[in-house]
Parts: sequence; structure tokens; C-alpha cells
Amino acid sequence: MEEGKKVLYSAAQPTNTLTIGNYIGAIGNWVKLQDEYNCFFAIANMHALTVRQVPAELRRRTLSLLALYIACGVDPEKCVLYLQSHVSAHAELCWVLNNYTYVGEMERMTQFKDKSAKHADNINMGLMDYPVLMAADILLYNSDYIPVGLDQRQHVEIARDIAQRFNNAYSPTFTVPEGIYLKVGAKINDLLDPTKKMSKSAENPNGVIFLDDDKDTIIRKFKRAVTDSDASIKYDPENKAGVSNLLTIYSVFSGKSIKEAESEFAGRGYGEFKLAVGEAVADKLAPIQAEQARLLADKAYLDGVLKSGAERAGRVADKTLAKVYRKIGFYQI
Ligand code: ATP
Ligand code: MG
Repeated sequence: MEEGKKVLYSAAQPTNTLTIGNYIGAIGNWVKLQDEYNCFFAIANMHALTVRQVPAELRRRTLSLLALYIACGVDPEKCVLYLQSHVSAHAELCWVLNNYTYVGEMERMTQFKDKSAKHADNINMGLMDYPVLMAADILLYNSDYIPVGLDQRQHVEIARDIAQRFNNAYSPTFTVPEGIYLKVGAKINDLLDPTKKMSKSAENPNGVIFLDDDKDTIIRKFKRAVTDSDASIKYDPENKAGVSNLLTIYSVFSGKSIKEAESEFAGRGYGEFKLAVGEAVADKLAPIQAEQARLLADKAYLDGVLKSGAERAGRVADKTLAKVYRKIGFYQI
């Protein structure tokens, strides 16, 4: 940890293979920020438990996600990469913070409502408590900034509220974190329903580009992407959600601005445009996929990264937790 640098915290759940939404809104952005901040990036396997997981799959996806972080360019020498369940302070602080969070607040969370509707047979306490565990994640490291997609904004706001509530009840303890959201790409939408966020646990995989999709699959999915009947390639999220989503994806993967992309495709047809988007995405993902496969073959290296990450994260987290326990009146020996 370098003195004087602000702390950045983020995580992703090993619930499925990641999507280009996760890449654009989260990991790709982490890579750009890792030099400027002291970064903690977790694999949120405790959050993943809030919807049913197959144990063997969860285990496999954990290493796969770690390999993906590194393959995307997140540097384990610069950043603390670790598995949430390896640092017991997350669960412990979550329990404390639960007592400073109201049931009504949690019931109003959009993600809780969406996921409850989707998993109506399993509306468990963990699902409702998701934002409090996330607040614990963030507050344990005295994080200043939280780079996430727009879907997580409400949770970052609640983490701020909980931090302030605790600080007011005792004395300044937690840094009050701030969310940081991309101007372009903070919400990538589903290709088949471009008003809905692209999610790795979506029901229909045809609207989602997974980071391990091969080129043919990627091109096929983009070909079927929903657009409109207007036949003009213009950025207008309100009236042209599908085309605007594709322009955003193209912009990020080609490195061109939205304006540049609009002029590149002025007067050209949707078919040609969709093919170009597919190719830009596939070309960028191919080397990441190869690097991920190479890393996954070296389990000893990945285990080493997790071990060192757990130690480094644990040291910071345990210090914060001890401070909290002292303030709330837990007897210490
Ligand atoms: P799930 O459906 O299992 O919740 P998810 O795709 O929402 O999966 P998460 O692991 O919950 O992925 O989120 C990881 C990070 O990716 C978070 O920072 C989240 O805000 C971001 N993110 C998720 N979906 C998108 C999206 N469509 N566009 C931009 N960012 C996204
Ligand atoms: Mg999510």
C-alpha cells in the first residue's frame, strides 16, 4: 500500500461467466485506475450465495474469475486481489452493520425487488442483506472510491448512509465512500431488450455477450441485436436504445468516441454496423481468453495470488473491525 494514495474498492460475483457489461462497467475501468489508487478487488463469493449456486461450479468459477481479472490487465502486484470468504471480517462487520440498517430500506432496494421477482421461490435473508454485506466490504478498507456500474449506485448510497449513521452514533470511524461511474458504459444493456441491463444471470443468453464467447457466437448474437426501423446510426438512448447501446459497446472496444463511431457509420446499414461491432468485440476478447486459459493452467500461481491477497486484505480489515468492536462496547481481552 502506498502512502498518500486514495483507496479504491470493487468486486464482482462469481455467479456466471462475466459479460461485456461487467468488462466495460467494472474490470476494464479498474485497469485504468490501478496506478492512481491503492486498489482492493474482491471476488464476491459470499454475495454469490444469495442466489442458489452449484458448489462445484462456484468453486470452478472463482479461479476462473481471478484468472480473468489478471487476463484483463488487473495487476496482482499493484492491487490486492482476494476472495471475500477468505477474510472473515466481512461477515463480522456485516453483522454489526445490520443493526444500523432498517428493514424498510432494504425492502426498497431495486436489486432486491428484481432478484426477488426472479427467484420468487428463494427470497432469503442473504438476498435482502446483500447491500449491508457490500457496505461492510467497502467500509472495512476505508475506501474512498467505488468504481461500479450504475446498477450498484443505490447500494453505494446506502453504504454511505450506514457509514454516516455509525460515525454519528459513535465517533468518526469509517471513510464515507463515493461511487465513480463511467460517462460512457456505466450501463450496458441486453442486446435483445435494450432497455434492460445486460446481466450475467440473464434468462436468455442470446442477449448477453459472455467474455468466453467465441467469435462466431459473438457475431451471431450481435446480428440478432434488437435495433429499430429508423435506419440511422445515431446515439439517442431515449428513442434509439438498441443502436445507442451498440454504439457504446463499439466505442469502448474500438477506442473511438461515440461521435467518431457515428461518422464512421453515417449512411451505412445496420447489418454492416452490427458486424463491425461484433468484430471489434471478438478481436479484443480473443487475447484475453487466451491469457485466461494460460493462467488457469497454473493453479499454484493463482492460489498464491489469493493467499497473498487474503493476508494483505485481512490485515487492513481486521484493524478496522477491531476499532469497530472497541467503539460498540465489545469486551476485549
Ligand atoms: P448478476 O446478474 O449475477 O447480479 P451482474 O452482471 O450484475 O451479475 P455483478 O457481479 O453483480 O454482475 O456486478 C459486477 C460489476 O459489474 C458491478 O460493478 C456492476 O455494477 C457491474 N455491471 C454489471 N452489469 C453491468 C452492465 N450491464 N453495465 C455496466 N456495468 C455492469
Ligand atoms: Mg449484479
